[in-house]
Amino acid sequence: MMEASETWNRLLAHVRETALLESTAAMLEWDEHTGMPVQAAEYRAEQLMLLSGMIHQRRTDPKIGEWLKALADSSLASEPNSPIGASIRCMRRDYDKHVRLPESLVKQIAKATSLGQQAWVLARKENAFQSFRPHLEEILSLRRQEADLLVDEGMTRYDALLDQYEEGARISTLSDLFSRLRDALVPLIHEASLPKNQPHSSCLAGLFDLDQQRSLSRWVAEQIGFDFSRGRLDETEHPFCTTLGPHDHRILTRYHSDSFSSGLFGVLHEAGHGMYEQGLPAEWYGTPAAAAASLGVHESQSRLWENHVGLSREFWQWCLPHAQERFTNLQQVTVPQMVKELNRVEPSLIRIEADEVTYNLHILIRFELEVDLINGSLSVADLPEEWNRKYQDYLGIMPTSDAVGVLQDVHWSAGLIGYFPTYTLGNMYAAMLFDAAERDIPDLKARIQIGSFLPLLEWLRDRIHVYGRRYAPMALIEKATGHSVTSQPLIDHLDRKVRSRSGASERS
Ligand SMILES: [Zn+2]
Repeated sequence: MMEASETWNRLLAHVRETALLESTAAMLEWDEHTGMPVQAAEYRAEQLMLLSGMIHQRRTDPKIGEWLKALADSSLASEPNSPIGASIRCMRRDYDKHVRLPESLVKQIAKATSLGQQAWVLARKENAFQSFRPHLEEILSLRRQEADLLVDEGMTRYDALLDQYEEGARISTLSDLFSRLRDALVPLIHEASLPKNQPHSSCLAGLFDLDQQRSLSRWVAEQIGFDFSRGRLDETEHPFCTTLGPHDHRILTRYHSDSFSSGLFGVLHEAGHGMYEQGLPAEWYGTPAAAAASLGVHESQSRLWENHVGLSREFWQWCLPHAQERFTNLQQVTVPQMVKELNRVEPSLIRIEADEVTYNLHILIRFELEVDLINGSLSVADLPEEWNRKYQDYLGIMPTSDAVGVLQDVHWSAGLIGYFPTYTLGNMYAAMLFDAAERDIPDLKARIQIGSFLPLLEWLRDRIHVYGRRYAPMALIEKATGHSVTSQPLIDHLDRKVRSRSGASERS
């Protein structure tokens, strides 16, 4: 009989070696999205396929099951929130899920989603929902089968899918949180959309030199606390953040010369993700103790820096002079003008271009639709009509085509069902965290106004980052803020935003 500590050491060595392979694959993917020559694509796909096969084999290695079983009753597992105890609990959870799914189903899903994404690209381009419909039907049927294998007592099928992205989240909790949010947002957006509350003209029109944008964005990322000795900022088509090792975090954005804000806000968002990764305990790299708590918690970190910091008056009191040094066309812009312009509220059709207030309704629509698709009360044939009806009801606008309606997102074609809600959960967590940080750091806003961001970053490190996956996401937020998860702080934050806008326009 092996000692528990010896078993743990073997398990640890095994997962650390898997992490070496995973980070190598991530490096190849980062390269694929930054500067890989076109003709390298085929060989790169072979490299990634080989690595992902090796990674999958290691993750489902029966040895892991044996080690975890031996550790389950040991003293090492007795502290469920200690780094080792939590790692054992999370690895058990992940391993159980892996082994419940037969390889044939995993392969079928991989094939259907690969074909599904290709079909989606074409269908969106040609505005032809009918050609995508059989693919979506197939994907839904496979993910229902998957959910039936993963479902535990007291869970619905949709819960089983959701639980893969946000541990412990359930449809019953989310429906309650989301319907409160929807009931508050619909009238708020109606008010914000009134012509008297819209800024008359844009103070951010014109062209913005790309090199100056790069320089400002990098400088801002550095000032808020992204550590460039352990990370890089690069450019790509769709902004993202990836981790290539315990001390190697990459953030990526894109700049447009006709937009002052899109590149910078891409950086604020991705730096929020990147600083979370940089704050995870490097000594546990490769184990759940150094992994992000969930997608929702990850998104809370990016949204906090992007929306609660980056869109605030205090941030622009500090940042505007630095932007004006680089862009002559901002010389006449005042802080209130800048803040009002960046905080425009306007219902629009495309989720990824939506403002902070309307964004969540895009998510709630998708959540309600995918719940109905999974439980069978909505057919794929009726999906476009139902999509349009909800846009009209909630946002007061009607998609002009399926391409800018039901076909706009890649998620469902990639099999990502149960994923969308984590975006709005992230916004709820961010509002709760910012409120709690303001309570704990009384001069937080005065600090932001002078470009002093370290107190906020340290607060997030102490309460969120250091814990990795040691607590379930909602328990972690509750522990950090002292409150159970609610939509009220987000509602209050968005409400203040809309009210201050209408107040400002009445005065002007
Ligand atoms: Zn994000």
